[in-house]
Amino acid sequence: MKLAYDRILLVHPLGYNPQAAGRDISRMANLMPPLGLASIAAWLEKRGLHADLLDCYATPDTAETLLREQLLSTRPAWIGFSCTTSSFLDGVRLSQLVKSILPGIRSVFGGPHISALKTEVLERFPDVDYAIVGEGEEAIEDLMLRGLEEPATVGGLVWRDGEEIRFNGYRKSVLELDAMPFPAYEKLHGYPHLYKLPIFNYPKAPNSSCISSRGCPYSCSYCDRSVFGRSFRYNSATYLYEHLAYLRRRFGIRHINFYDDQFTFHRQRVEEFCQLLLQKPLGMTFNCAVRAEHVDPPLLKLMKAAGCWMVSLGIETGDPELLARHRQNADLDMLATKIRHMKGAGIRVKGLLMMGLPGESRASIQRSMDYVRSLPIDDFNLSKFTPFPGSPIYQDIQNQGIFHEDWAKMDCMHFLFIPHGMEKEELEALFTEYYKRHYTRPSVLLDYVTMLWRSPDSWRRFLLNFKDFAQFARSNRRLAEMEE
Ligand code: SF4
Repeated sequence: MKLAYDRILLVHPLGYNPQAAGRDISRMANLMPPLGLASIAAWLEKRGLHADLLDCYATPDTAETLLREQLLSTRPAWIGFSCTTSSFLDGVRLSQLVKSILPGIRSVFGGPHISALKTEVLERFPDVDYAIVGEGEEAIEDLMLRGLEEPATVGGLVWRDGEEIRFNGYRKSVLELDAMPFPAYEKLHGYPHLYKLPIFNYPKAPNSSCISSRGCPYSCSYCDRSVFGRSFRYNSATYLYEHLAYLRRRFGIRHINFYDDQFTFHRQRVEEFCQLLLQKPLGMTFNCAVRAEHVDPPLLKLMKAAGCWMVSLGIETGDPELLARHRQNADLDMLATKIRHMKGAGIRVKGLLMMGLPGESRASIQRSMDYVRSLPIDDFNLSKFTPFPGSPIYQDIQNQGIFHEDWAKMDCMHFLFIPHGMEKEELEALFTEYYKRHYTRPSVLLDYVTMLWRSPDSWRRFLLNFKDFAQFARSNRRLAEMEE
């Protein structure tokens, strides 16, 4: 039987052995839909092509069975994988499996890891047939329509020309985001109930994530922006309101997390969006991530009135010198003031922090802990610095300390980079101390008590998974009992 050349199966790989999925603390705490793939699927369908979605992260136990069934029933000529650095090798493994089930199928890889490495991906991995650099929607459409005959004409494509590996260069134009259909959420098995925001990060379920912009104009040393670049494109307030109304109407979503890097970067858009929510309420609340420079008391007051429940804010480190070395506008006093403004508006605040950056020391970590303890933040996420291939700092990372580049473990939950002057054991001990100092603050503990009535679903999930969370707190490992 022939393959269907107008059909693609888009896959979000799990990133590790499926048998370990039940013990993956990050899956239990936070399961986000693969929005990029859902967006590509909707785009392709709109253009008359066919796309199916398989999220191995959401369905690890049945993913390979579903994969086999899907391949044999629809016989797509294309399989697409969206990969981060940590899930890339699992994507390659799945690509080999797929080719053994359906000979002749072509694999195409996209995502941040691929956009960062470009031709290197095809040079090193013969099972990868094509790679897409940058935005995926139009590039995959072009690949499916004419990539077999005229691969040199597909912008953003990396391909094999005999023995040569070629990159056609970046696409000349970018998508107009308001012209895009809403992501094909309906193609995600179990959506929305299978997907969960982080515990204590939402008031109600079902909830979901949504993206309303692409790109970020800043250039933090540790941040990989190889897919969408340094421009900032966004959906209009009207589009955004309609998107939320659709999620409410079709899926019953009651809370949205805007997964944008910079939700408030365009102030007027956010004002208009909030006004729309106030004029025509949807019965929904929302979270967003902001940069401190782009909020002020009047805007925060308006956001709160429109339903803003929590704001995440990149702090990274409370050590002023280290911060100045890695990002622009490194002003800890300004950050503290903005956090007080957020709290003053009645919005919960989640601080996003990082440990182990180049230049980190025991003293800088202590300063960071002291600073964070002085802030009235409610929630907290501390990640282990990971130098991703697309980040500016990656180029010089070998001169900054010892880096063990193990892609499968590059998930911000392992110290693979050890800055000069530090030891891994020391970093691990300070990491545990950092968390303990936050979670033993009386104000933080009291806040979790109030979550009993402000986010009862979070408490239900916390109690259901209590044993695993406690084990994570003791072991400090994402996949408890199985590695290192
Ligand atoms: S960390 Fe945030 S502000 Fe910095 S470059 Fe990345 S997205 Fe932009």
